[in-house]
Amino acid sequence: SVPLSFFGGLGAASGQGILLKGSNYLEAMANLDTVVFDKTGTLTTGKFQVTSVDPLAGTKEELLELAAYGEFHSNHPIAHSVKEAYGKALDPSMVGAAEEIAGFGVKTSVYTQNKETELYIGNARLMERQGIAVNAADSMAGTTLYIADKNTYLGSVTISDTIREDVPQALKGLRAAGVKKLVMLTGDKPEVGKLVGEKLGLDEVHGGLLPGDKVGKVEELLTKKHKDAALAFVGDGINDAPVLARADVGIAMGQIGSDAAVEAADVVIMTDELTKLVDTILIARKTVGIVK
Ligand code: ADP
Ligand code: MG
Repeated sequence: SVPLSFFGGLGAASGQGILLKGSNYLEAMANLDTVVFDKTGTLTTGKFQVTSVDPLAGTKEELLELAAYGEFHSNHPIAHSVKEAYGKALDPSMVGAAEEIAGFGVKTSVYTQNKETELYIGNARLMERQGIAVNAADSMAGTTLYIADKNTYLGSVTISDTIREDVPQALKGLRAAGVKKLVMLTGDKPEVGKLVGEKLGLDEVHGGLLPGDKVGKVEELLTKKHKDAALAFVGDGINDAPVLARADVGIAMGQIGSDAAVEAADVVIMTDELTKLVDTILIARKTVGIVK
């Protein structure tokens, strides 16, 4: 049976917009030694600014419009950012079915001049997969989105994200609460990941990961942590539901990307304040302390 004061702990947490799916997660949160973060939308805002648009032919406006149509059906933070940067209304009858390729980008059909064009928008890995040669330099600092039709490279859009304001404070709070290892995993380019990791003083950063690679990294970190302590993964649920499920404590927070994420998570934080993680640990410690 569950000691009564656990309900007090779960209740205190829910009053703060923190939902725990069981009292066992209170115990795990009271004793975390590794916290693994997804990058986009978790440590960064997920609101990318477009820093350059480089069409191979035609105008920047045309390429950005095409990119916005390419992202029409996508719920990824990158997709929202591109659509916002284009800023004009999109005609739903212009786009056909879309296929989201996790860790790569999206494939869509766009109808222009009475013909259907197969459109690809995503990273260098997606272009390579499609066998499309990209004659453009990958920007070091930014995230580059390549746009191509079935056979031809059409141009690129470079975007860049910023670190969430409350992240340094939240990380400091986690360290103060005794968390030993702070790790970031990202599907974005290793160079972008490295920059964010250095700014935040993280212990480990792994970039260029596909969703399955993120699971592998978490499994590796699980073998390295103290056996009586827990590992938490924190993400927004976009392309990271499998890792949320694999961690001792999967924490979904912010603009949670999907119902699958809410299902895969053990803890759901209803706001995007990362400092809520520290609050959760403190509530958990208080509750577990009372029980013991
Ligand atoms: P993160 O691990 O940083 O949260 P994801 O795993 O969601 O990132 O995505 C990894 C990479 O895949 C992105 O940096 C981007 O290059 C590409 N990508 C994913 N979804 C999209 C999309 N909708 N449009 C364009 N590129 C995308
Ligand atoms: Mg993500």
